[in-house]
Amino acid sequence: MHKLDLDSDDVVSPTYAARSFSHDIPKYRLPAEGMSADAAYQLVHDELNLDGNPALNLASFVTSWMEPQANRLAVETLAKNMIDQDEYPQTEVVHRRVVSMIGRLFHAPAGSGSTGTATIGSSEAIMLAMLAHKRSWQRRREAEGKPTDNPNIVMGADVHTCWEKFARYFEVQARVVPMQEGRYTIGGEQVEPLLDERTIGVAGLLGTTFTGQMDDLASIDALLGRVESARGWRIPLHIDAASGGFLTPFCEPELEWDFRLARVRSINVSNHKFGLVYPGMGTVVFREQQDLPQELVFHINYLGGDMPNYSLNFSRPSNSVILQYFTFLRLGREGYSEIVASVMANAQALAGKLGAIDGLTLLNDASQFPIVVARAEDPEKLDLTLLSRLLRERGWIVPAYTLPPDAEHITVLRLVVKENFSRDMADMLAHDVRAAVHTLEHGPSARPKRERRRPLC
Ligand SMILES: *Cc1c(COP(=O)(O)O)cnc(C)c1O
Repeated sequence: MHKLDLDSDDVVSPTYAARSFSHDIPKYRLPAEGMSADAAYQLVHDELNLDGNPALNLASFVTSWMEPQANRLAVETLAKNMIDQDEYPQTEVVHRRVVSMIGRLFHAPAGSGSTGTATIGSSEAIMLAMLAHKRSWQRRREAEGKPTDNPNIVMGADVHTCWEKFARYFEVQARVVPMQEGRYTIGGEQVEPLLDERTIGVAGLLGTTFTGQMDDLASIDALLGRVESARGWRIPLHIDAASGGFLTPFCEPELEWDFRLARVRSINVSNHKFGLVYPGMGTVVFREQQDLPQELVFHINYLGGDMPNYSLNFSRPSNSVILQYFTFLRLGREGYSEIVASVMANAQALAGKLGAIDGLTLLNDASQFPIVVARAEDPEKLDLTLLSRLLRERGWIVPAYTLPPDAEHITVLRLVVKENFSRDMADMLAHDVRAAVHTLEHGPSARPKRERRRPLC
C-alpha cells in the first residue's frame, strides 16, 4: 500500500514530451533558457541524422570506423589538451613514440636528428614543412648576400587545395604544372622548366587527390640532384603522402618514395586516412634537424617546464595521437599489411565491376592505391553528376567532379575504398551504379537488365 501524494505538481517528462520538442528553439541565437541534458542530446542527435552515413561515404579518405576499444580510449582522453605537455607527460611520451615510428616507417636516416610532430592533418603538416623550407631558403640567400623576395614553389595541378592555400596565405608564388588528357601526375620533365634560384621546394605526391595516382617521384628527385650539381640550387623535395603514406610501405615496400630518395627533406601523412584513426591527426617529419630552422620552434614555459613547439594551433585534443598509438600497437606491420591487402583487393574488385558496366570507363583501376576513378564513355549520354545524385538517393556518397586544368573537360567519379568497405558492399554498390546508369540512359521507368546469373559452383 502507498500513501497518495495529492499536492505535488511534479511532472514526469519523457524525452520527446519535453517542451523542447514541440516549441521553436532559436537556431542562430543563444537560447534564453537551457534544457535538460537528455533533451539536448536527443535534439542534436536527431538533427545529425540528416548527415550522410559515414559507412557509405566513398568520397572521403578519412577513417570512419575504429574498434570499440579505440572508441573507449578516445572518450577517456577527450579532456586532455595536447599542448599541456607538462601536465600530461605520458601523452607527450606517446606522441614522441608515434612520430618516431612514422619516421622509421619512412626510412628517416638514423643519427641525422630527424624531427617531427603530430598536426591536425596534412594541411597543417604541409604548411609547417613549407614554412621551414621557405625560412631555410631565406637564410641561405641572406648568407649569399642575395635578395629574399619572390620565393616560389613548384607543384602539379594534381595537388590538394592546401598547397594553393599555403602559397596564397604565406605569399609564395605557386608555379603549377598543368595536367593534360592522359597525364594526371607530374615528373622531372614537367618540373624542370619551372625551377629557378627562388624555388623554395617542389611538391611530390604519393597519391593524388584527383585520380589516386603517384607523381614520378624518382625522376623529380634525380632532377633536383642534377640541378644542385649544375646550378648550385639546393631545392628540397617535399613528399605529400597524405593518402599513400600508410599504403605504399605495406603494399609496395620496395618502392623508394620516402627518405631513401636523397632530395626528400620532409614528408607529411594524414594519420586519419590510412593510418586508420579518426579525423584530427596528421604528421610532418623532417629528414635532418637542420631542415627545421630552430628559430621557428617556440619554447613555452607558462604551463610549467620547457616545451618546444612547432605548430599553427595551440590547444588541440590529444586523443588522435593516443588512437594512433593504439592502432600501431594493435596492428603492427603485419596488421597494416593485411588490412592494406584486403582494401586493395576490394578496390580492385570494385574497379572490375564498374569497368564492366556499359557506359563507364576506368581512369584508374586501383592498381596502386585503393581508389577507383571512372569517366563516362560518352559524357553526352551519361552525366556523372546526375549519376552521383542518383546514388545519393540510395545513401551512397560518391562524388563526381572535374579534373584540374588543363584536363578540366573530363568529369570523373571517384570511389575511395576504406577498411570498413567489404566485398559485399562492393557488390551492392556496383549493382546500384549499374541500375543508376541504366536509369540515366533509358529513363526512370525502364527496367534494368537483369544480371546474368552465374552457376553457384
Ligand atoms: C587529404 C589530402 C591532403 C589534406 O589533408 P588533411 O589531412 O585533410 O589536411 C593533402 N594532400 C593530399 C594528397 C591529400 O590526399
